[in-house]
Amino acid sequence: MIRDLLCMTAPVREGFDIPCHEIGPKSSHPAAAFVAGLHGDEINGIFILSRLADFLNSVEAGKYPELHLLKRVLIIPAVNVLGVNLRTRTWPFDKSDINRMFPGGTTSETTQRIAYAVLEATKRAEHRVDIHTASADFEEIPQVRLYGPSDAERETARLLGLPAVMERSLSPVFTTTLLHSWKAWPGQSFVLRVGQAGTVQLGHCQRVFRALVSFLGRIGVLEGVQIAVEDEETCFFNKASAHRVFAEKAGTFVSDRQVGRWVGSGQELGYIYDSFGGTVIEKVVAPVAGLLTGIRRHPLLFEGDLILRVNRKG
Ligand SMILES: [Zn+2]
Repeated sequence: MIRDLLCMTAPVREGFDIPCHEIGPKSSHPAAAFVAGLHGDEINGIFILSRLADFLNSVEAGKYPELHLLKRVLIIPAVNVLGVNLRTRTWPFDKSDINRMFPGGTTSETTQRIAYAVLEATKRAEHRVDIHTASADFEEIPQVRLYGPSDAERETARLLGLPAVMERSLSPVFTTTLLHSWKAWPGQSFVLRVGQAGTVQLGHCQRVFRALVSFLGRIGVLEGVQIAVEDEETCFFNKASAHRVFAEKAGTFVSDRQVGRWVGSGQELGYIYDSFGGTVIEKVVAPVAGLLTGIRRHPLLFEGDLILRVNRKG
């Protein structure tokens, strides 16, 4: 079933609403809740979750006789639905970041009401997942982000079957995120970061889609799933494992390397060219041996811009 999470009116256009899929047996709360598009330009997550909703609706319709949805799943593919339409990260009317509006409220600004509705719909789920991307300039490996996790969340993160799990402490500054609000409730909370904003990266999306379907099988929500054994292991990385390379010179950065590959210390990963002269002015090399977990995709560099990140295996 698809319903509107929240219907809103706008002064100079037709109203708009945030679609919300509720799929599977009725219950007081969903077993799993998935959210994407808090930022309107993060299309990978929106694509993954709209495909997941279509797949689970097909399961419910009997198209996959071997699969059975045993528990309820809630999916909100695009919270910032107006930002998606206008291709903006923030809420278009007041440029506010919806992921800084939690826990929200019922009588205040539109973005506060949106935050409140999202939190109310998802907070009682046993497993909660919020999908993001890096910026439009930078690509990140599909990864689970844990912020001040419990041991149970660390264990479950492995079940998501993505190549990397990045652990951070819970920020004392960003207390107004969806993840932070979820943490006040029983159950487990995860952020996924998948690729870069502004585009659909099909390989990453397919990988995460398969991972989420397997995950629903592993946590007993979807029965009959053939659990794919990924040939890659999941690596856990803490903050200290990250080694970053910043641009020493301005220019045009070009690289044909893909995130998710293991690289050797000193291995050439790209070049900075003189933007108008065309000569190579800097070779960009891996600072340590490890996994290439992020790389700049916008070619035009200022001095000091982040070019790439390699995580050393702990
Ligand atoms: Zn985001």
